Amino acid sequence: MVTFLAGGTGTPKLLSGAGDVFAPERTTVVANTGDDIELGGHLVCPDLDTVLFLDGGELDRETWWGIADDTAKTHDELHRLAAAADLPTGPQYLPADAQTSGRDIARHRRFSGVAEFMHIGDRDRAVHVTRTSLLDAGHSLTEVTRRLADAFGLERALLPMSDDPVATMIHTPQGEMHFQEWWVGRNGAPAVEDVEFRGGDRATATDAVLQALEDSVVVGPSNPVTSLGPMLAVDGIREALNETDVVAVSPFVENEVFSGPAADLMAGTGREPSTAGVAEAYPFADAFVLDSDDGTAIDRPIVRTDTTLDAEGASERVARAVADALAEVA
Ligand code: GDP
Repeated sequence: MVTFLAGGTGTPKLLSGAGDVFAPERTTVVANTGDDIELGGHLVCPDLDTVLFLDGGELDRETWWGIADDTAKTHDELHRLAAAADLPTGPQYLPADAQTSGRDIARHRRFSGVAEFMHIGDRDRAVHVTRTSLLDAGHSLTEVTRRLADAFGLERALLPMSDDPVATMIHTPQGEMHFQEWWVGRNGAPAVEDVEFRGGDRATATDAVLQALEDSVVVGPSNPVTSLGPMLAVDGIREALNETDVVAVSPFVENEVFSGPAADLMAGTGREPSTAGVAEAYPFADAFVLDSDDGTAIDRPIVRTDTTLDAEGASERVARAVADALAEVA
């Protein structure tokens, strides 16, 4: 049995071809939920949904989010209405008192649906409506995710990192904002002064996550700050990682990041934006998989291979390197 810790791009890419190395029915994926927001009353869970759509064979693999060939009639109409009514566009937080009332899971990350600032497809939205309605009926996010996984025919087990709210907030000179406002609403432009996992001090790992972390763990090539950071803020997860065999795949080749804002976020939180910085951020990792061109020295076993995940057969090759690294530390 093996457990992958996932954000929304690097680890799903690794999972996409890992099935012949790590049998899906013996694999659990724990997804970050710090990126989640409530938008127009619906809970959107981008990292959970990327895995849901990937394993359901529905993912838009151009963007690595959303459902391929989805329509966006409701999204377009939200923008048409806002323009016709002269309403504002862009990320709009609900008022301060609304951030801490209502359903607990959406604390500190409630946005208006007026001219919604995230692109939500029509079928994608149906997932959010179903999820939110089941949460309102009293089910935990873990239970709701299991239902959705059944609906999409998943063979891997998919778990949210916690049933408690953790909101990833980016502190910038323009003020503090949720990760999605910073990344989707403002293209990651405001300088990063700090990253806070609001609610993390009160969030606990679920029994399902703690059980999954008794197996060998693979930290995919995810963003160490905003994909792994929220998980490490949840009570019980770091301790569990210290106890089990962990292999991490670097999302860098030395100091070159493959994609996304990981370098800015690491620099903004006082870490070296590089594989060396990743190794420092993951003291619980027992071995690493690095790119063949990555000469970083780490005081733990290293398996090297080409870690670019886009080419045909690449993710299976990287998954084999992960299995080799696990075999070294087991
Ligand atoms: P997010 O939720 O979209 O931030 O997704 P993740 O945290 O799962 O993944 C983002 C990370 O994936 C970035 O830091 C990238 O450097 C990394 N990444 C993207 N493509 C590749 C790839 O082909 N190979 C490797 N090794 N890392 C990649």
